[in-house]
Amino acid sequence: MSDMKAQLKAARECPECSALLAMVDKAAREYDRSAETDARVKLRRHARAEHGRELPLPW
Ligand SMILES: [Zn+2]
Repeated sequence: MSDMKAQLKAARECPECSALLAMVDKAAREYDRSAETDARVKLRRHARAEHGRELPLPW
C-alpha cells in the first residue's frame, strides 16, 4: 500500500498528471461523463507513456 501512496504522490507532483486529475475531478463534479472519460483516457495514456505504469487510481 505504501507503494501505491508513493505513486499517487508522484502523480500529484507531475504537472501533467495534476492537470489531468483536476480535469477528471471537475468533469465528475459536473456529471460530464464524456469529458470525464476523455480526461481519464488522457491520464492513462500519459501515465503509461511518461511514467511507464498505470496509475493506481480506483477506476
Ligand atoms: Zn505524469
